[in-house]
This record gives sequence, structure tokens and C-alpha cells, in this order.
Amino acid sequence: MKLYKINSIFLSHEGEGIHLGFPQIFIRFQGCSIGCKNCDTPEAIPFNLNKNYSLKEKDLLKKITEIRKKNKLKLKRISITGGDPLDPRHRENVLNLIMILKQKGYFINIEASGNVIVKEIFDLVDSISFDYKTPSSGIKTSLKLIKTLIKDPKYSSKLQIKSVVESKKDFLYLYDSYLKILKTLNELKIKNFSNWIITPCYSLQTDEKTFINKFKQIFKWNLTSGGLFRVIGQQHKWIYGSQRKNV
Ligand code: SF4
Repeated sequence: MKLYKINSIFLSHEGEGIHLGFPQIFIRFQGCSIGCKNCDTPEAIPFNLNKNYSLKEKDLLKKITEIRKKNKLKLKRISITGGDPLDPRHRENVLNLIMILKQKGYFINIEASGNVIVKEIFDLVDSISFDYKTPSSGIKTSLKLIKTLIKDPKYSSKLQIKSVVESKKDFLYLYDSYLKILKTLNELKIKNFSNWIITPCYSLQTDEKTFINKFKQIFKWNLTSGGLFRVIGQQHKWIYGSQRKNV
């Protein structure tokens, strides 16, 4: 009997990135060992808690069907997130779940924390949302992995890179990183690589006015640096506030 470590399963609209606004079911795995300083889902980090997050496979699938039926959903879209769904402790279950859901005809996005490429999973999903961490996270992810994904048409066609920007230091780090992958892009004759998304950080401490000013600043940095990135906010946080969960 397969047991999944699940924090929550809920219906909402995609709040960020290139699929912004699509209604979809989110499956949030419980547990992550990466440890970003600016993590916005700290409740999904621990692997071992008093609360039992184990869910049987049949109950997980039942819950998805219930949500679809209750809401008369026509679109079959699922985003697998965390925590870190690609953590070795989740990986086998995540792969198994994706195989089942693909057979049922779902469009599947995987939220990857940017520290690993899991070919078996990336081959199967329809969309890869791959983090490239900035200095404010306190975590370093490898540009080599980004280059590998861009070079392989199997992955580049369904790839978005996502980076949270809190400060000018973060932005300059991304700008410098982009310049480093330009050679790869030129070799591949990719002129307009447009799926590197900057997400302005909407932290718990930020009030609306400060956040809007930060957003405008990031627009400006992007434009004055040649406009390499797409700047897309997290609309769910804007609408519901940064503390509301599962929206
Ligand atoms: S990878 Fe995601 S869940 Fe894990 S610490 Fe970083 S932001 Fe939080």
C-alpha cells in the first residue's frame, strides 16, 4: 500500500508564472530539506511532525475526483508542489502519481526547487517550473542545470525558470546569470528566450505600498538592463494576502 506525505490538496487558480490564472488542483507534498530563508510555505517543510500527513494512494485519487465532481471542472489540470516534491523521499511516489494521472488525461505541472533534474519525472509532465534561487534565499542552485534543460528540446519546450527577487543584489545576480547562459542560447540560435520569470517577493512583512514600489523598481531594473526577464507577480498573495494558505 503506497502512502503519500501530503500537506494539502486544494482547488485554486495558478497564482504565478506563465500559467497564471488557470484553475487547477494543487497537490502539496509535505517535506523539504532545502531550507530557503525566504520560504513562503514553511508549514510544508518538516518531514516529521506530530500530525500524520500520510495519505493512501486510493484516498488521494478519490479526493482529486471529488474536487472535480463537486466543482464540475472541465479542465484537467494539476500542479504538484511542496515542500519539495522532488526530494528523494517523495520521488518514487511522485513518479507513480504522475503516471496514474497522465493515464487519466491530466495536464501536469511540477514545481521543482532547482537543485535537481529528475528525468523520469520531467519526461512525463507537461510543464516544468524550475527555480533558480537568488542570494536572498540563502541557497545556491546551479546554472549548469538550467543550461542542461535549455539545451534539451524535450525539456525546453515545457520549461519556465522562476526566480524570486527581493533586492537589487538578487536582480543583478540574475542578470549576470542570464549573461552566462547567453552563449548557450546563441549556440542554439535561440534569440528570444522568454520563459525566465522574475517574481517580486511578497513577504509577510511587506505592506501593499512598499510592495508596489518594489514591483515598479524591478520593472525599471529589467528595462534598463535590456528587458531580459518577464516580471510576473503572485496574484493570489495580492488578492488574498500573503498569509492565506491554499488559495
Ligand atoms: S524549496 Fe520551496 S518549500 Fe523548500 S524551503 Fe525553498 S521555498 Fe520552501
